[in-house]
Amino acid sequence: MIEFRQVTKRYDSDHTALRQVNFHLNRGELAFLTGHSGAGKSTLLKLIMVMERPTAGEVLVGGQRLNSMPRRQIPYIRRHIGVVFQNHQLLFDRTVFDNVAMPLHVTGASPDAIGRRVRAALDKVGLLSKEKMNPMQLSGGEQQRVGIARAVVNKPPVLLADEPTGNLDPELSADIMQLFTQFSQVGVTVLIASHDIGLINDMGRRTLTLDHGELVAGGTPWGEQHGL
Ligand code: ADP
Ligand code: ADP
Repeated sequence: MIEFRQVTKRYDSDHTALRQVNFHLNRGELAFLTGHSGAGKSTLLKLIMVMERPTAGEVLVGGQRLNSMPRRQIPYIRRHIGVVFQNHQLLFDRTVFDNVAMPLHVTGASPDAIGRRVRAALDKVGLLSKEKMNPMQLSGGEQQRVGIARAVVNKPPVLLADEPTGNLDPELSADIMQLFTQFSQVGVTVLIASHDIGLINDMGRRTLTLDHGELVAGGTPWGEQHGL
């Protein structure tokens, strides 16, 4: 579902953010992305979201090569990728329902369909009863779950999370991880960037580890990726 083939990203001539990164995440796989600050985690996520393009190598999502994708197709590919941020980026001038509905408005869905999708997403994160509230009235853990509902409201096959538990205590973090696990069980490919070694160890999942732009653990060997 997500494939990196010998991906190198250089922001300027003497600064390599990612160096020949190879990995392949299957449909329904849940993996972590870790590494020191500056190791290249955000860059890797940005390449999947087509916010950056690789200097060399290829990035594929759902079998589609992103490198050669025309600019006008980028909004369509982004709809297939849900993103959860550490600070959840909710808008406090509207209800929980309206926050979750935001990604659906650009798709031209009917009000009926929007209502159904938003309630299905809120139901999945256990917040159906709070749709009319302002996110400001919710706890930090609940706000993060609203962010997750918004990320999955389009039913994306890929879910990316950038430090999703950065501001949460261990118990709430475990709840959020359980949600991600549930999405992976219905076929969503989930990649979670995190510094939280305790949490990563508790989960016991595949972990892609970056060190100064090199994928030093958790990658797919080049031969295996190509069935050699
Ligand atoms: P992480 O998310 O692991 O902290 P990043 O992907 O943000 O790492 O950064 C990897 C390297 O690329 C760092 O050395 C960083 O300074 C550099 N970098 C990130 N974004 C840019 C940019 N837009 N321009 C130049 N250098 C950048
Ligand atoms: P519908 O509007 O099609 O009835 P539902 O919310 O009832 O939608 O979801 C149908 C199924 O799709 C559920 O089992 C749900 O968990 C699953 N599903 C598949 N991909 C996703 C995703 N990215 N986000 C949320 N649910 C998903």
